[in-house]
Amino acid sequence: MQDSSRQRFDVIVAGVGSVGSATCHQLAGKGAKVLGIEQFTIPHHYGSHHGNSRMIRMAYYEHPDYVPLLERAYKLWNELQESTTERFFYITGGLYIGSPDGSIFPGSLKSAHEHHLDHSILNAQQISDRYPVLQISENYSGFHEDQAGFLIPEQAVSAYVRSAMEHGAVINQEEKLISWDTFPGHVEVKTNKGSYRAGHLVITAGAWSSKIAHGLECQLNVTRQVMAWFEPLGAQERFAPGNFPCWFIETEPPFGHYGFPVIAGDPGLKVALHRPGEVISPEGLQGVCKPPPEEIEQLRAILDKYFPGCAGGLTRASTCMYTNSPDGHFIVGHHPVHNHVSIACGMSGHGFKFSSVLGEILSDLALEGRTSMPIEFLSPQRYSG
Ligand SMILES: Cc1cc2nc3c(=O)[nH]c(=O)nc-3n(C[C@H](O)[C@H](O)[C@H](O)COP(=O)(O)OP(=O)(O)OC[C@H]3O[C@@H](n4cnc5c(N)ncnc54)[C@H](O)[C@@H]3O)c2cc1C
Repeated sequence: MQDSSRQRFDVIVAGVGSVGSATCHQLAGKGAKVLGIEQFTIPHHYGSHHGNSRMIRMAYYEHPDYVPLLERAYKLWNELQESTTERFFYITGGLYIGSPDGSIFPGSLKSAHEHHLDHSILNAQQISDRYPVLQISENYSGFHEDQAGFLIPEQAVSAYVRSAMEHGAVINQEEKLISWDTFPGHVEVKTNKGSYRAGHLVITAGAWSSKIAHGLECQLNVTRQVMAWFEPLGAQERFAPGNFPCWFIETEPPFGHYGFPVIAGDPGLKVALHRPGEVISPEGLQGVCKPPPEEIEQLRAILDKYFPGCAGGLTRASTCMYTNSPDGHFIVGHHPVHNHVSIACGMSGHGFKFSSVLGEILSDLALEGRTSMPIEFLSPQRYSG
């Protein structure tokens, strides 16, 4: 075991995945002495940031209070994209389809009205005029926004880690945080390889958050989520960004299926269900995690119904994890009990797009003790007492 007991950092970031990588980038960019600790190699396929695509959208049906965070998130993603030659951020337009009495259509509309966001409303006929591959029933309405798109999560995480290291961050991979404790003025962290001291600890441990963020008074349910890709049939331009939107259809209100345009290097036409799946332990993806054929067939049936004639043979299937908070909203802020600790967890299957802004928020909490971003509605305190 390496004797690192005298190593002292300004901030330790526990978990260098989606949010942790952005936090390391922000902290190092502000001149802090940062240590990021990640139990696997970066990026990896055992947590919540794999699968080639994560949707980013502005008219947030989940709650209008997310919109100011999204405005900042877009700006920070653009900055990261401009700093790297590898393209990971695509604006393609987004189409959200559901019943006018459901969640996604009225929720998107509410956010758009409250925050004056550009959008258009499309009926079933207008949807198939604009996107001929899509076949939608008459009782659905479509909400379209031009500024939606997707991020390639593995590339975004890698870009943040590269940038953090260029600014002096120490990123220890394949090292696992085992425990931490707070003392007046500092935090001590023990890993399987050593121990470290810092002025502040940021916990961004995704599906493992319950295991290491003791003192949080709420249950986080980790669930298994399946993604499948199928060969896109016919002219490939039909599926290219511009001709094909990022789409979400409220097939199981308030949940639904979603997918993306196809870009070079993609395994195919992707489809997945946004609804918490079977509850598993965070270690659940480290063994064999091939989804069973019936789950693949359910996903294919969605493409056959709404994109008839588009899906050929299965090209890839994979599983990933959601970490669900009790109310489906993120948990972000100072630890409810420990002064020198802050946290972002419970991202509930919709957090990737926010990683950029959450990294900035967590760096401000660690270095300044506060943030100017409106995160009160996400406070860990909402579960206390
Ligand atoms: C199938 C699927 C589709 C999704 N689609 C979207 C989407 O379209 N748009 C969107 O915005 N979001 C989406 N999400 C959600 C989004 O990907 C997650 O909310 C986000 O990745 C969570 O980030 P995180 O940093 O909390 O977790 P992670 O990215 O998993 O990072 C946590 C890290 O902490 C590390 N760690 C944990 N414990 C320890 C320890 N003890 N020591 C050291 N390291 C540790 C883990 O190894 C991991 O690398 C989707 C998620 C899934 C599964």
